[in-house]
Amino acid sequence: MSRLRSQGHQAYLVGGAVRDLLLGGHPKDFDIATDATPEAVNDLFRNSRIIGRRFRIVHVRFGREIIEVTTFRGHHDSGSGDTGQGENSGNHSRQSASGLLLRDNVYGTLEEDAMRRDLTVNALYYDSGKFEIFDHADGLRDLEGRKIRIIGDPEQRYTEDPVRMLRVLRFAARLDFTIENDTAAAIPRCGHLLAEIPAARLFDEFLKLFLSGSAAKTLAKLLEFDILRYLFPETCVCLQQDPESLALIQAAMENTDQRISVSKPVTPAFILAALLWPVVSQDSRRLENEGDAPMVAMNSAGHSAITNAVQHISIPRRFSQPMREIWEFQLRLQRKTGRKAAELVEHRRFRAAYDFLLLREQAGADTGDLGAWWTELQTLTQEQRLERVASGRSRPKRNRTRRSTPAA
Ligand code: ATP
Ligand code: MG
Repeated sequence: MSRLRSQGHQAYLVGGAVRDLLLGGHPKDFDIATDATPEAVNDLFRNSRIIGRRFRIVHVRFGREIIEVTTFRGHHDSGSGDTGQGENSGNHSRQSASGLLLRDNVYGTLEEDAMRRDLTVNALYYDSGKFEIFDHADGLRDLEGRKIRIIGDPEQRYTEDPVRMLRVLRFAARLDFTIENDTAAAIPRCGHLLAEIPAARLFDEFLKLFLSGSAAKTLAKLLEFDILRYLFPETCVCLQQDPESLALIQAAMENTDQRISVSKPVTPAFILAALLWPVVSQDSRRLENEGDAPMVAMNSAGHSAITNAVQHISIPRRFSQPMREIWEFQLRLQRKTGRKAAELVEHRRFRAAYDFLLLREQAGADTGDLGAWWTELQTLTQEQRLERVASGRSRPKRNRTRRSTPAA
């Protein structure tokens, strides 16, 4: 910020960092707003690059941190605030027939920029030179009143960018704020617009929804506003037919939040496996009834669940592969005899699959106490495990002298 100011530019800390600092929390990342164009910022910082098309922004790298620097946005409809960079510098905006904002690269003033932001509490600007806060959208009032309020006309703002609905629900959940009436009322009317959002952007948003430590509360909000069906339509059809299958998804979210709170690693694959499990288990039961062998049924159910899901939300292969393994393991874990059963414990997917099994049980699945059996098996040495699966004893003998470490 001081480097930008030293060149005669304005520069402010904005968005989540100001909001979270005022709430007494730790900012996750830092966003800067400036009147300098992306090219000017790029010229000032050797360690920077211009990214994005819909919004051209500059990433400035400081060690391991990336600071996002955005140029003040103006009113895209009137083109006011055009600072004269011309067409070829990308200073223009574009809207689809339905009002979706395809590009928003019209530059403007701080006041205009504030009005282009999503929520009042995200539109606070901090001047680190003068130690001043600029609040053109009544963000301080809403921070005080713990309210999530969209800036401007909710329906128009959701139409421009439907992802703002997901952001409203995410911040309400994460900050434990209430959603202002008009901001909330327009969501059911505009929800269908989420169908226009590219699958890749929905996946990015999915990560923020469920991997920020408030997954359980966010899920509740998505269900309350009937928005989950635009992310996972097939799952929502299953939930209507069998409301009890929600329990596993809830358990997975709580488990994820719990792990994040103690800094344990989490993977989108696990959450996605839970979110699609109602679809996979229902479909594989159907295929089994039609005569498929269990593993064949599970495999093709998993394949089609993913094929259908990626029509709406992209799932990179590095996650879909582990998801399928977690599902297949739910069958493999049923086999308690033979060398293969003993070796499962060493498999790289065992831990996730075993955790998934425990969550299913916690959510009411009747597995014949399978989880306890695998919990105990992990306490044995490899030799004892082999002996155990060969003899077919119903309960594994406990190893009292030494605990073997469970496979990662
Ligand atoms: P987080 O703590 O999750 O980073 P954040 O508020 O900083 O929260 P970002 O996604 O980093 O969220 O976005 C930075 C800022 O950019 C927001 O605070 C908001 O002012 C603005 N912004 C982000 N997405 C949108 C959007 N879809 N429409 C309007 N403004 C947005
Ligand atoms: Mg941020």
